[in-house]
Order: sequence, then structure tokens, then C-alpha cells
Amino acid sequence: MALQELLAGNRRFAANQLTSIEHDLNILKQHTVEKQEPFAGVLSCADSRVPVELVFDQSIGQIFVARVAGNIVTPEIIASLEYAVAVLGIRTLLVLGHTNCGAVKAAMKSDVVPGQISSLYSHIRPAVDQSAGSVDKAIQVNARLQAELLRTSSTVIRQAIAASTLKVAAGVYDLATGKVAVS
Ligand SMILES: [Zn+2]
Repeated sequence: MALQELLAGNRRFAANQLTSIEHDLNILKQHTVEKQEPFAGVLSCADSRVPVELVFDQSIGQIFVARVAGNIVTPEIIASLEYAVAVLGIRTLLVLGHTNCGAVKAAMKSDVVPGQISSLYSHIRPAVDQSAGSVDKAIQVNARLQAELLRTSSTVIRQAIAASTLKVAAGVYDLATGKVAVS
């Protein structure tokens, strides 16, 4: 149900019929100063073209979003999402890749890059290895593999899935159409 709610919001976004902007932000802010009760969590890429709340037509306090280039699962990401599951009680978790992802493309090329950018590569390489040189495939597989990592490497998430209180899904956001396809 929570995933359906997210996808319904995405259909409104893709149709340019946002309803979240009609919400009174002052009231929403007042109601969420002391507590938050998001219904879903999203792990997405940091890419500026993937504004997660907009993409799902959601407003303040509705979705718990963790973002990192390449939507990869690291200990800090697991910790953040475990908080959303164990304390905030989110009912669905979506790992969201996106078309034309620069992090995935860079990991495929393995070019020399400045600073610590290449630390992302090792997380994305398993998907690259399964994609036979296709960027689109690597993006799709990466979202799926990161979702599987969340399911298996977090005891909190694993237990919530076993108790049927949480679902972890993977999807890809299409920059051109604005649509999210869940795999
Ligand atoms: Zn990206």
C-alpha cells in the first residue's frame, strides 16, 4: 500500500498534476516540529535532477529520504534507514536509481577522478559486471543489488521484512518522462 501511494504520487508528478504544493506548509511544519511519521523511505542518488519529494508528489514529514551518489548502500546509509524502519515505522523502502546516472557511468569507465570520487566505484562495480556494457542495464541492476544489500546486511530491515511490516523495492526514475518504473 505504501509503495502504491508513492507510485500514485509519481503518476501525478509525471502528469504535471502535483497536489503536494497545495498543502499549507505552515500547518505541516507546526504538526511535525515534535515528531515525524513518514510512511515510506527512499534511497536515491544525489543527482540534482532527481528531486525525490517532487518526484513522488510528497511534502513535509511524508517520506524519509537518504541520498548518496549512485544510491549505494554504506554503513551510514544502513544506519539512517534502520532508524526510519525501527523508530519511525516506515512500511516501504524504495531504492531509486535514475537514467543517465553519472556515478554509474563513471564506475563503468573507471576513469581517474579527483579526490575521493572513486570510492563510489567499488559499490557499483558488481552491477557493472552484470550489465555487459549497457549503462541502462547497470543502473537497473545497481538499484536491485543495493535493495538486496539492504535486505540482507541489515538485521533491522531483515526482521521487519520477516514480520511483514516492511517491503524493500527497487526502481529507476526516467529523467525524460518523469516516470518511476519499479522492478
Ligand atoms: Zn546518479
